[in-house]
Amino acid sequence: MFESLSDRLSDVFGRLTKKGALTDSDVAEAMREVRLALLEADVALPVVKDFVAAVKEKAIGQDVVRSVTPGQMVIKIVHDHLVEVLGGADGATDIDLNAVPPVPIMMVGLQGSGKTTTTAKIAYRLTNRDKKKVLMASLDVRRPAAQEQLKVLGEQAGVATLPIIAGQSPVDIAKRALTAARLQGFDVVILDTAGRLHIDEALMQEIEAVKRETNPHEVMLVADSLTGQDAVTVAKQFHDRIGLTGIALTRVDGDGRGGAALSMRAVTGVPLKLMGLGEKIDALEVFHADRIANRILG
Ligand code: GDP
Repeated sequence: MFESLSDRLSDVFGRLTKKGALTDSDVAEAMREVRLALLEADVALPVVKDFVAAVKEKAIGQDVVRSVTPGQMVIKIVHDHLVEVLGGADGATDIDLNAVPPVPIMMVGLQGSGKTTTTAKIAYRLTNRDKKKVLMASLDVRRPAAQEQLKVLGEQAGVATLPIIAGQSPVDIAKRALTAARLQGFDVVILDTAGRLHIDEALMQEIEAVKRETNPHEVMLVADSLTGQDAVTVAKQFHDRIGLTGIALTRVDGDGRGGAALSMRAVTGVPLKLMGLGEKIDALEVFHADRIANRILG
């Protein structure tokens, strides 16, 4: 397995303290270890470069060279900076429902990222924790099983889904969902847009059209934390084209190192709001920067 950053730094500083006073080049060596640890955690290269430059500046500012425990000091600087970049010290956010009901929420993401599961998890959470009346609608008309999948998840979660009418376009389904929600007094409408294996122009146009028509209060990207660097490209493309308001990171229960989270946040600036921790309907939590920071540190 990978050597953790803590181990790497205690190796470096353990060796150095024996030779007496530390120098700037010793700090540079420590920064090389930070860089390697981040790359091993699957953080994208440009993000690593900026991150190490910022940490180095802080290390020099806090005079690591004169510290009695330089290794621990660098680890703390790296940890604090990770938490800062990942989303602030409290590190926890959530879906924003502060709008006139029915509040439209649009879910986007690649096929297999966990989009439909996360849609149902959010609906379940808003229903049970926040006592909201939630309607879900699948806009995936390309995969016939997709609308059925959401219906089944809705039944399991005790959340309403929009009745399926074959042959409707995604925009028509979205409009029907909003009208039904208004008429039937729903608080929230979650629109599960179609996914593809890769981003393509037709998908982007379809999602843009749904967004124009429904003016969603939240546009949540669902991204698989195990896809590493690919997640960054996907997040950037969706954000540039559609405009995201939040990211839900899935498969955080897996053995990924969390680098994708840092890269997505650093590259897009979009807040990480939720994280999926398993296949079960209640395996969803608000994003905790601190936990992901610890995982990246190893
Ligand atoms: P979609 O194609 O993006 O809608 O993906 P699905 O919602 O159908 O999810 C694909 C698979 O990933 C399903 O088997 C889900 O149960 C699973 N899945 C989704 N989120 C998580 C998660 O946070 N952890 C784990 N372990 N599995 C997940």
